[in-house]
Amino acid sequence: MKRALLAGLLAISTGLSSAQTIDSKDSADYGSKNKAAQLQQKKWIHGSADCKSNTDPAIEVFRYDPSSYILRQNKCLSYESPFIYVLFGYEKVLVLDTGATESELDFPLYETVQSLIVEQSEQDGKTEKELLVIHSHSHSDHYSGDSQFEGKPNVTLVKPNSEAMVQYFAFSEWPNGTANIELGGRKLTTIPSPGHQEEAITVYDPHTKWLLTGDTFYPGYIYVKDWADYRASIARLVLFSNTHEVSAVLGSHIEMTNKAKEYYPIGTVYQPNEAPLALLPENLIALNSELTKLEGPEIVVLNEFIVAPMNFFQKMISKIAGWII
Ligand SMILES: [Zn+2]
Ligand SMILES: [Zn+2]
Repeated sequence: MKRALLAGLLAISTGLSSAQTIDSKDSADYGSKNKAAQLQQKKWIHGSADCKSNTDPAIEVFRYDPSSYILRQNKCLSYESPFIYVLFGYEKVLVLDTGATESELDFPLYETVQSLIVEQSEQDGKTEKELLVIHSHSHSDHYSGDSQFEGKPNVTLVKPNSEAMVQYFAFSEWPNGTANIELGGRKLTTIPSPGHQEEAITVYDPHTKWLLTGDTFYPGYIYVKDWADYRASIARLVLFSNTHEVSAVLGSHIEMTNKAKEYYPIGTVYQPNEAPLALLPENLIALNSELTKLEGPEIVVLNEFIVAPMNFFQKMISKIAGWII
């Protein structure tokens, strides 16, 4: 709050709009732990026992603050029910992942994002903003909606493959180093985090202080394809959160129930007692210390999540899926 006020005063006194950050126009500190604690209370739309009778919207839109949205895909459209993050800067809008369904008719993601741009323009008067579409990693439940954005005006879509991603972010020594995304008054940091999948990244937003971890870290049963890479990625994320303020660690799915160590099996379309989405840096630290104790790939079961190495068969399937794509 104090920092936001100071930034606002600075902007007025210097008259430089470039001195403004997204924080400066807000009246509250949206990156505070108190604000982030709301995410612990948030009950998401969580599917139906009988999907034929499901009348929930295809996409749930949660407005966390005036420039930060969390979208969730309806479980009855895809049991994966991924979360998608939409973050506004003065110049650009970031869309992190595009969900598990291609059809615009069934899953109108592009249209939903456009409606958020209209909503946002009522605040800042800007009706045209560049859309930047990126992916937490290249599993199909995170990029299936890409075709809705392809060829649309003012859209930059970074394809979900390692060449496009490394080229766009100009990572010179993947998986080391970080890259920045400037949205205009909101500069995000991208941190390589391979392990669950080769191209996985984590995005840090200094405005909300969110660490957006995709499928690298979320309240669920997390499969790890490359154990050594994953271990290094979790250590990297712990180091990052030790040196940056993190209000919440937010991944792309919820698979845990609200009981410790218990998860909904794969394919579940109704999760009435699911765990909260938000995890904390403490959870990353706990995982890191478990991983450093282990000599090799082994299942790690903690109250809030489970991390398991992929077996040979699962790795083969993953490879075949990679060839097909
Ligand atoms: Zn996923
Ligand atoms: Zn994944």
